[in-house]
Amino acid sequence: MNFADLGLSEELLQAVEAAGYTEPTPIQAQAIPPVLMMKDLIGIAQTGTGKTASFVLPMIDILAHGRRRALMPRSLILEPTRELAAQVAENFEKYGKNHDLKMALLIGGVQMGDQVKALTEGVDVLIATPGRLMDLFERGKILLTGCELLVIDEADRMLDMGFIPDIENICSKLPTNRQTMLFSATMPPPIKKLSDRFLSNPKYIEVARPATANINIVQHKVAVTARKKREVLRHLLRTDNVSTAIVFCNRKTTVRELAKSLKGHGFGAGEIHGDMDQPARLAELDRFKSGDVNILVASDVAARGLDVKGVSHVFNFDTPWHPDDYVHRIGRTGRGGASGRAFTFVAPEDAEAIDNVEKLTGHKIPLFDLQTEEAEEAREEKPKARRASRETARDTDRREVPEKREVPEKREESARRAPRREARAPAEEPRRERRQRRSEAEPADDGWNGPVPEFLKVSALA
Ligand code: ADP
Ligand code: MG
Repeated sequence: MNFADLGLSEELLQAVEAAGYTEPTPIQAQAIPPVLMMKDLIGIAQTGTGKTASFVLPMIDILAHGRRRALMPRSLILEPTRELAAQVAENFEKYGKNHDLKMALLIGGVQMGDQVKALTEGVDVLIATPGRLMDLFERGKILLTGCELLVIDEADRMLDMGFIPDIENICSKLPTNRQTMLFSATMPPPIKKLSDRFLSNPKYIEVARPATANINIVQHKVAVTARKKREVLRHLLRTDNVSTAIVFCNRKTTVRELAKSLKGHGFGAGEIHGDMDQPARLAELDRFKSGDVNILVASDVAARGLDVKGVSHVFNFDTPWHPDDYVHRIGRTGRGGASGRAFTFVAPEDAEAIDNVEKLTGHKIPLFDLQTEEAEEAREEKPKARRASRETARDTDRREVPEKREVPEKREESARRAPRREARAPAEEPRRERRQRRSEAEPADDGWNGPVPEFLKVSALA
């Protein structure tokens, strides 16, 4: 299959070629033709399969003709987080460079002045997080009646973050004869309901079973206790040929503490979580992308969908509470056909959470054997021992080891035990956590006054 067979314009094909893509991904090959035919569409494909270009490319051609009008964006893309919104904006810039399209980005944590000015003048594409959009709508700064194309991206994530009521609200303000596209990695019942209500006769495309993990990712679970997690992590970072890694934690405080601890042990670690303002998050991400640090400790909300190339490892320092998050987290590695490794730390209190993950992905994750001696040697930091243990580690990871052998304890660190909690099914996630996720995604306007990064600026795409 070739991009040229999909019905895209010549200008667009040139931009795609310049971006270095030679072949459409399966979701792109299947989604682009119907979208160009102005059909509604539901696109289900796991993280990292190229869903963004499957709507951005046809949208550029659809929007190439037509007039901008003041206050009335011609199309709207909803994203759950600021980072994802910024990434979609980058995609528009990259592929739209041969077109005269204007875009605005409405996200929390970035001053709205320029964006509102752009909206007042008229934009072809508005990329927004739901909260920020509703905010502006209620203040009468925007009209949605001219918006004939809507994309609801990362719908399952929107659901996790409690955005569905906002999305319903937004949908009801758009013209009914619009074209609507919904993209998601999974299709839980509330998303099905949303699409039944707001899409009309959609084309349904599913390229892999929902929540099936990428086959290029070698997955392991590692039996740990809360107090040994850091030590086990350092051991694996040293012995598993890690070139770059994202380490996911369930809580923001864990992200901060762990990043600090890793730095204290001489690792090049950065951190990204929802308490950081937008410039700080982007700066930290840049440090990681540029290789300044090779380990990024992250919370789900801050890291979901981030497009970082060539991550060799994903560590789930905590088993995620939501099984969907597991798929998203490990999807940060093994991208674009490369292979990757994912380790999930499972403490006794995570039994139910890991069970839910295995039910969702439909496969038992093999247990990684942490050999006692290896851990001991790694701790003593003998370079020779480390080399030897790396070999053993590579060796053992090919077989499935049913029995867990624990790493000896190290008492001087991590004395504070993670608070004990029962493993919970997603529905029972504590209210406080859920609120936190939401506030991570849409922090109150923090009145940031710093320079606006280039790609966040409203720009003529030409
Ligand atoms: P998703 O939204 O499905 O999680 P993205 O749209 O973020 O995935 O794309 C994942 C990665 O794949 C990005 O790095 C993107 O640049 C890359 N990509 C997308 N389409 C192609 C393609 N046709 N060929 C090669 N790489 C691609
Ligand atoms: Mg995406």
